[in-house]
Amino acid sequence: METKNFYNEMLTEHNMHPEYKHALEDSDIVLDGVNPSCGDEIKLCLKVSGDVITDGAFVGDGCAVSQASTDIMLGMIIGKKKDDALAMADKFMRMIRGKATGEEIESLEEASALRDVAHMPARAKCALLGWRTLSEALGADPNAKI
Ligand code: ZN
Repeated sequence: METKNFYNEMLTEHNMHPEYKHALEDSDIVLDGVNPSCGDEIKLCLKVSGDVITDGAFVGDGCAVSQASTDIMLGMIIGKKKDDALAMADKFMRMIRGKATGEEIESLEEASALRDVAHMPARAKCALLGWRTLSEALGADPNAKI
């Protein structure tokens, strides 16, 4: 019960007062992410310097889970090395699939509140949208300026 309340409060808070939902000038990487099954869309913008993500933001439209998850994600990855951000994304994806260890879930801090969506398949794709877009942006974007 407590977990459920925390989950709802956290989603509401990040939707009402998102910290990173705004345009970002001079981004080094811009990538659109879409979750057609729910109609969620995000445009993820990152600034990178060497192998460090120095700033990030997103604009988008979609359900509370997709937008809140992306906002939480940006708070966790800004200032981190790209490799560390990718490792977090990997952990998050495994958590949503129910494959992460307790220790891994704990290390995801605020994002771990989304662990419950693992039990809601329709919501899982919403929670994954930001992280999936991030992985693609960092790993597979041939236009990324390094
Ligand atoms: Zn959604």
